[in-house]
Amino acid sequence: MQEEVVAQIRQNLQGIRRRMAEAAGRAGRDAAAVRLIAVTKYVDSQVARAVAAAGCADLGESRPQELWRKAEALADLPIRWHQIGHLQRNKLARTLPLLALLHAADSARLLQSLEQPAATLERPAQVLLEINISGDASKHGLPPGDAAATLAACRDYPHVQVRGLMGMASRGGGVEQARQDFARLAELRAELQQQFPEFSLEELSMGMSQDFEVAIEQGATLVRIGSALYQGTPYQK
Ligand SMILES: *Cc1c(COP(=O)(O)O)cnc(C)c1O
Repeated sequence: MQEEVVAQIRQNLQGIRRRMAEAAGRAGRDAAAVRLIAVTKYVDSQVARAVAAAGCADLGESRPQELWRKAEALADLPIRWHQIGHLQRNKLARTLPLLALLHAADSARLLQSLEQPAATLERPAQVLLEINISGDASKHGLPPGDAAATLAACRDYPHVQVRGLMGMASRGGGVEQARQDFARLAELRAELQQQFPEFSLEELSMGMSQDFEVAIEQGATLVRIGSALYQGTPYQK
């Protein structure tokens, strides 16, 4: 791959990290409490390798088949893989062993289906409940009102560890709408944590290239960033 592309990605990454730190600072938060998930769904394994080499140990993919392919191609690197898109149950057994964190646990059925393969792996599945904060019918995710019942069901799944919530801002709503959406998700996390002290719901996965700064201001612990990483390269979206 071209030197310039690698250099551009490194420079973009530096800028993103600086903006993340500034957003954390504005909210009086420790910058170290926010982790960057570099989304590699727009690029091939070679570019993903460059992203990892630039210092991103956490990579995210939305399609499981693509995650399988890249995990295999980059098996020599200590990457933590994040499944950030919908996971069909028939792809679960193959995906679960590769994952550090499933961000998109979006139904009670999927959570139930995780228990057996996670027990077989002898490693609890680490998951976030995806919440459809905006109520957009085209989006995956549990309605906010179903989150408590879904968590309650997870008490029966000892190999499923729910670690927090994931959500996306309303499409086309702009930064102020995103701020409200993220504030709601943060509030829901706090309520659920109070109601379910037996779970450690410390993670809030929210914020993408367009809105990661407001997400951090509202308490994001994980931001999922794709397009901003590839600006000025042939992979720009
Ligand atoms: C693609 C994707 C992202 C990254 O979006 P960008 O706007 O490219 O930063 C984050 N989260 C999910 C769930 C995605 O599908």
